[in-house]
Amino acid sequence: MIITRFAPSPTGNFHIGSLRTAIYNYLYAKKKHGKFILRIEDTDKERSKKEYEDEIIKVFNLFGLQYDDLNYQSANKDEHIRYLERLITMGLVYKSDEGPYKFLVKRELDHFEYSDVILGNIKIPNENIENFSVARSDKTPTFILSNIIDDHTQNITNVIRGNDHSINTIKQIMLSQALSFKPITYAHIPLIHDISGKKLSKRDNITNVLTYLEKGYQKEALFNFIIKLGNSFNEIEYLNNSESINNFEIEKTVLSPAKFNLDKLKFYNNYYLQKISYDSFINCINEKIKKKLEPFNLKEIYADILKRSNNYEDINLEIENLIKNYHDNNTTLNENELMILKNIYECVKGVLTFDEFIKSLEEKELSFKKTGKIFRNIIVNFHSKLPIDSIIKFFGIQKVIDMISHTINNE
Ligand code: GLU
Repeated sequence: MIITRFAPSPTGNFHIGSLRTAIYNYLYAKKKHGKFILRIEDTDKERSKKEYEDEIIKVFNLFGLQYDDLNYQSANKDEHIRYLERLITMGLVYKSDEGPYKFLVKRELDHFEYSDVILGNIKIPNENIENFSVARSDKTPTFILSNIIDDHTQNITNVIRGNDHSINTIKQIMLSQALSFKPITYAHIPLIHDISGKKLSKRDNITNVLTYLEKGYQKEALFNFIIKLGNSFNEIEYLNNSESINNFEIEKTVLSPAKFNLDKLKFYNNYYLQKISYDSFINCINEKIKKKLEPFNLKEIYADILKRSNNYEDINLEIENLIKNYHDNNTTLNENELMILKNIYECVKGVLTFDEFIKSLEEKELSFKKTGKIFRNIIVNFHSKLPIDSIIKFFGIQKVIDMISHTINNE
């Protein structure tokens, strides 16, 4: 049976690149009807924090990444020490003069190699790999050792992780062979770069998964965007959880670093935002604006707003533009427009419903086609580009008639 794992160190906020690694391991296990393990590598006591552990679990729950087992590396300590002692007894690990315990690298061959599912054949000259630390001077194991021991004891068959671990893999394969462990299949995924081609850094980019969610990026959009960074998923644009399982082929992951293109994320988010309910839409609006919306029919217009929005900021801006002129009227009309507006007023002044409103205008040849610009001027002063009929529904017929009469009387 295929068993994969995601093995984060809880030393920082959940990184967007880690999310892709987690999802790929999840998808691979699901596709192969295998198991997916979440192992929190919390052995670095100084840098590990409970709040980061909680964040990992929170992100997993939000994205529906169900795991078959959750374990904490610190609980496996005795096992790590047992194997360390075995390596020392076998004469393969020695205490170095500098202090740490090091693995004695074999020097018979002039290079080391292994086959990677994505990178292909990896070949490293022997002289490039020095004897490496497997434990500190107090015998606490390093990442290289504890990680491969846990992979072995948890029967991991496939490791999918970032490219930055490819040299660690060579070392871990040496340890694994020395201890006669069953071989693991490795797939190293190219790192994510920013649009200018540099490694996605915390300083210049947002790398925190939860920050995107707070800004109004839907989890479905983030999921869809992140899985397609570096893998086309059979050229399918929109994929949900089960479609992505069916269309995942790890070996088709491209070798070049994936580019993080925010516009592409916005594109996906626009698609998924249009699916949210009215209640969820309300939650996207900030409290200050929400208070100003009470007299209006927001439900009439929310789909139009979502069509034009890529995140919460866009939604709030769109609403602000809609109500700006209502509170601070700056409309000016020329003579001709004023005359038309007077005709409009005569025609709609007693009307009660939107349908009647339209009908009366059309009868007098004052349909939106001809008068839309005047309506847009007096209601929103061109701040909003939403369809005029939606704008009128939002304010309601009575308020629009009041605005018309107010404009006529003030000009
Ligand atoms: N704890 C390691 C990390 O977060 C695990 C790497 C791995 O083997 O997946 O980089």
